[in-house]
This record gives sequence, structure tokens and C-alpha cells, in this order.
Amino acid sequence: MTQRRPGFPSWIASSASPSAVSAKAGQGQVPRAPAPMHVPLGVGMDSIAVRSRMVQRLARGGVTSEKVLQAMSSVERHHFVDTALVNQAYEDTSLPIGLGQTISKPSVVARMTELLLGAECAQGGLGRVLEVGTGCGYQAAVLGRVAREVYSIERLRGLHEKARNNLRPLRLAHVHLLFGDGMLGYAQGAPYAGILAAAGGESIPDAWCEQLAMGGRLVAPMGNGAGGQSLLVIDKTPYGLKRTVLEAVNFVPLKSGIA
Ligand code: SAH
Repeated sequence: MTQRRPGFPSWIASSASPSAVSAKAGQGQVPRAPAPMHVPLGVGMDSIAVRSRMVQRLARGGVTSEKVLQAMSSVERHHFVDTALVNQAYEDTSLPIGLGQTISKPSVVARMTELLLGAECAQGGLGRVLEVGTGCGYQAAVLGRVAREVYSIERLRGLHEKARNNLRPLRLAHVHLLFGDGMLGYAQGAPYAGILAAAGGESIPDAWCEQLAMGGRLVAPMGNGAGGQSLLVIDKTPYGLKRTVLEAVNFVPLKSGIA
């Protein structure tokens, strides 16, 4: 396994955003706040307005943590999806990101982030966190808003590179992207206050529980034995691992090795 910490080179102007509205913007016009969805996104107020509607929906849907809502409001999801899908970036839907993988839907990202934070550390924010399955880097960016340090590992080189490109303009020096098999965790960064997996297997790899700090929490999809998946929370307590099975979810499979 090769692992490397990325550099986060200099600022890339956010005018590198999708250019669907650039003709209008070029005439010095700020595009009007769009009707809900299906409008070109990418610059200025329109993306803020659509994103704040997404956050309102998340709050109505049961996300209560102010920290999580702020994180969801500050990370621009449309920068993490392909230009052709930009209009759907703030709908509550997963979207393809290449190599057969998907960016999770916003409600799932918010839900998992909120679970990871838990009641106890919701105030202060999390310490060090490991994400397994960087994908396009969106969840890693959200985690970067609620945790002091984030390690995110991806087994597909193409997506690891994509996430690096997506995150570079955000200059998040505390978000470290790694290329490798996340089933092994990332021992060098352990112990983790939180581990979040964005891909689901039939069992939780031992390495994840080993690398979890005492008092830490793991949130991951896991096969339910009937062909589906459920969200699983594992708390590491002095009395052992406490497992809580939550709602049904639908994540891409957790695979071993790199490609
Ligand atoms: N959090 C991502 C979701 C990506 S989908 C986002 O915000 O976009 C889940 C990702 O997990 C896929 O990119 C897949 O390649 C990756 N994955 C699956 N098994 C893995 C493993 N063992 N180690 C690291 N990444 C893995």
C-alpha cells in the first residue's frame, strides 16, 4: 500500500466553478435567485440560495446539530460533482462520481456526521477522524468543518486524485488524503475520536475498532445479512464495544486492495 500526504498548493480562484452562468455573469449581472433546482449553478448568490434551501430541508428532516448544519451550508457540493450534474448538486440524491462510485446524498452525509459527533462532543467538535472511502472528497470537506484533523483514505487512485483536485482550492491543511486500502484503517493517524465509512461490507474490519480511541465512535454501513445494509454505530467504552443498529442505507461495497 502506498500512502502519501498530499500537499495543498496555492489558491485556485473559485472562478474555476462550473461556467453555466458565465455568459450572464460576464455582462455584469448577478443571476437572479433561481426557482428551486434545475437551474444553472456555480457562482455567487445562486449557489448560496440553493444551498441554504438544502440546509433548511436537512433541518426539517431531523438534523439538529448547528455545527453540522453550518458545515453543510459552507461546503459547496456543486464543486464536487461533474459539470453535467451541477444542477442536481443540492438535491437530496446520490450522484455518480466516476469509476462506478457515488457521492452520498446530503441527508446521509449530514446524518452520519451528526452521529459521529454524538451528543458529548457536539459542543467542542471532534479531534482526529478517519474516513474510509474518500470518493470525490465531499464528506471529507464536511468532516473538515467539524473535526480538528481528518484522514480520508480511498482505494481507487482515480478518485483519490479527483478528491485532491476538488479539495485543493479549499486549502484545508488539516484534511489529509491517503491512497490505500481503508479496510486496514490508517494506523499512523490512530487513535481516532471518530471513524466514518462511506462503503459497506459484511463485517466491520478489526483494524477500525483497534484504531478507535477509548470513548470514540465508529459510524458505518454494514450488510444486514438479508442483502441490504443498515447504519451501524459502534462506541468504544471501557466496558467494551457498544453496537447500535440504525436505519437501512444503501452504500457502495467496501472492497479490499487498491486499484
Ligand atoms: N464519502 C464519499 C463517498 C464515496 S463512495 C464522497 O463524499 O464522495 C465510497 C468510496 O469508498 C468509493 O470511492 C470506493 O472506492 C471507496 N472504497 C471502497 N472500499 C474501500 C476501501 N477498502 N478503502 C478505501 N476506500 C474504499
